Amino acid sequence: MIPFIDLQAQRARLGQPLEDAILKVVRSGAYIMGPEIAQLEAELCTFGKAAHALTCGSGTEALILPLMAWEIGPGDAVFCPSFTFAATAEVMPLVGASPVFVDVLPDSYNLDPVKLEAAIEAVKAEGKLTPRAIIAVDLFGQPADYPALAAVARRHGLKLIADSAQGFGCTLGGHHPLSWADVTTTSFFPAKPLGCYGDGGAVLCNDARLHDIMVSLRVHGQAVKSDLQGRTFDHDPKYMNMRVGMNARMDTIQAAVLLQKLDIFADEIMARNRVAARYAERLGDVVRTPAVIADGVSVWAQYTIEADNRDGLAAHLRGQDIPTAVYYPLPLHRQAPYAHYPQPGGLPVTEAAAARVISLPMHAYLAPDVQDQIIAAIRNYVKRND
Ligand SMILES: *Cc1c(COP(=O)(O)O)cnc(C)c1O
Repeated sequence: MIPFIDLQAQRARLGQPLEDAILKVVRSGAYIMGPEIAQLEAELCTFGKAAHALTCGSGTEALILPLMAWEIGPGDAVFCPSFTFAATAEVMPLVGASPVFVDVLPDSYNLDPVKLEAAIEAVKAEGKLTPRAIIAVDLFGQPADYPALAAVARRHGLKLIADSAQGFGCTLGGHHPLSWADVTTTSFFPAKPLGCYGDGGAVLCNDARLHDIMVSLRVHGQAVKSDLQGRTFDHDPKYMNMRVGMNARMDTIQAAVLLQKLDIFADEIMARNRVAARYAERLGDVVRTPAVIADGVSVWAQYTIEADNRDGLAAHLRGQDIPTAVYYPLPLHRQAPYAHYPQPGGLPVTEAAAARVISLPMHAYLAPDVQDQIIAAIRNYVKRND
């Protein structure tokens, strides 16, 4: 089977220094909040052009932390797409708030700013929930329309979260989503564009006070610098708890892995874009290949095409040892835990996309000859079924 994502090719490239970095943590004994954590946070700030970066245990925790810091909870509405991974909407019920599902644009599958504004107005008019925040998703790696989404957020006084679990490193006009969003969150799940060897996540922001509160929430609401100003405490402030938090720390070993991977990430993004360009050039006349927003650079977490008979195509490709995947066959508003949440205006674009999308092998190490096999198999299938 051709790999769908080839983590072993990346591991071979990183070689001994990666294994040495892991072993160094093992030998140091600093398994929790070791020096690699602060080093990674500093490097994430540089890479993501952010004033502050906070590592955490997963991309899901990265979404929960800002919601908790802003005290979003019962009675509050957070607007998000339904055509996304469950975590995007799951974090609202986890803090007691309600997701409100908004449809996406047909070309980028990212939040539709016009429908977003209509949904906010509908929720305001109904008067049951208080709009508080928007979670935009950089689906499949490409940036959402942040200038338009941020304008909507500002008009309605809402926070804007960029859920960049699939899109960390994507840019719009050369700028990261954080140029418009209040926070960018990401996941370092192994299959994401920048992944570790387990679970991990991060929250980037430019607001010192917000960062400080999230630092506290990450470790059980422990007192942080801003909490201790003008106070005295006789014992370790670690055991002075200012708010209800949780344990959302990243393991030091994962930070060590990410420091190695971050060094080659920019180069990998270029390689992913070369792979995407080859797919577009050689498939664009037979299937619908992805369109990227003007001035946008995708990091291609997935290369997702649309096909009339995607199940037939998947079976045909599987017969030639070519794996595919469907992200996402069932949008969240069609799933039991989320079906009862508001979806003002309906989600016709989401439903149409969910029935047609299919993702092809995509990673930075996909060799042109292997990619051409995939392309030829797709062309053959389409030709035969025309
Ligand atoms: C993967 C993902 C998450 C959650 O990340 P985890 O690290 O698995 O918790 C959130 N949002 C989106 C869009 C994702 O793809």
